[in-house]
Amino acid sequence: MELWSAPHAIFGPEGVVQEGALLTDGKRVLALGERRALRARHPGARPRRFPTYLGLDAVNAHTHLDLGLGPAFRGPFMAFVLEAVFPRNAERGLDLARRAARAAPQPALGDIVARDPRTLEWWLAEAPFQGVAYWEVLGLLPPEEERSLVEATRALIRRMRRLERPGGPRLGLAPHAPYSLTPSLMRKAVELAREEGLPLQIHAAESPDELAYFRNRTGEIAAFHRRKGLPEDLHPVGLSPVAYLAELGVLEARPLLVHGVQVDEADVRVLAEHGVAVVSCPRSNQNLQAGLPPYPLYRRHRVPLALGTDSALSGGSLDVWDEVRFLLGRGEPAPRVLEAAVLGGARALGLGPRPISPGDPLSRVVGW
Ligand SMILES: [Zn+2]
Repeated sequence: MELWSAPHAIFGPEGVVQEGALLTDGKRVLALGERRALRARHPGARPRRFPTYLGLDAVNAHTHLDLGLGPAFRGPFMAFVLEAVFPRNAERGLDLARRAARAAPQPALGDIVARDPRTLEWWLAEAPFQGVAYWEVLGLLPPEEERSLVEATRALIRRMRRLERPGGPRLGLAPHAPYSLTPSLMRKAVELAREEGLPLQIHAAESPDELAYFRNRTGEIAAFHRRKGLPEDLHPVGLSPVAYLAELGVLEARPLLVHGVQVDEADVRVLAEHGVAVVSCPRSNQNLQAGLPPYPLYRRHRVPLALGTDSALSGGSLDVWDEVRFLLGRGEPAPRVLEAAVLGGARALGLGPRPISPGDPLSRVVGW
């Protein structure tokens, strides 16, 4: 028998156990608890020490498998979109998603699926993951084209829902971001998700350019819209991205908000009031020169946090433990970071969490 232990352990929804441990025969978990108590009851067990963590696996609450693998881009957000994402859009789809899936170590993901319905079919019918596959919707379209997009999306949802497996991943909807949908398309997408009972993810308050666009129509997103000949009054001016979503009624649907970097205390309060959780992707934010979310502010207002890698193109890897190591390296408190990665992620995707119990296979346990 072996006694595995680590400075921090998470075995279930109660959160971090300091100096947690488990007893194992090499195949199954036999007992769980605090190291000292287990050691006293089983003095003959061979010790195995993990330097940081032991327990439930983390959840990668936000990624884009269909963008494939890295290397990670480094540079401002719009340069990333124009130089890394747009060139890959042509091949974006099932083949890239399958390749990325082999490099995604966590068994539960919140994945954004764009453009190719075959990727969604694969996700729901056979992908080896739990979690949510969110179909991406975006467009700054004239009313007629917008109506057809909504109807096509509704038809796709109805067709795809039939592929959901019992206990398998669920279908979700991802209106891409406040600046990439008209207010009416954003409202219709959220309404559609409500009617169909689908979970939502929205990228918001990510880059300084997004904030500048909503505040006063400056920055690279505003410049891009101008180059495209889009009208200046597509969106209201003078609000933060979070305030805009609140005013539109989107936060009532409690979407998962991805990034949440460009927020002030008023924004954080609004998110807390609506019970909205934030998925943070810190390595992606750093690579795209967005800064990092104000974690202490989120903790103070009790906004639930989860972690995601974002795409490998911006995050670098599809292993969410790399996000944890990144944050620990920056001095963020280990118990809170680990809880976000494990419990926050599971709650964000509606996965429980299901605690580790005596008798469970050792494959349910990770240690590092
Ligand atoms: Zn993303």
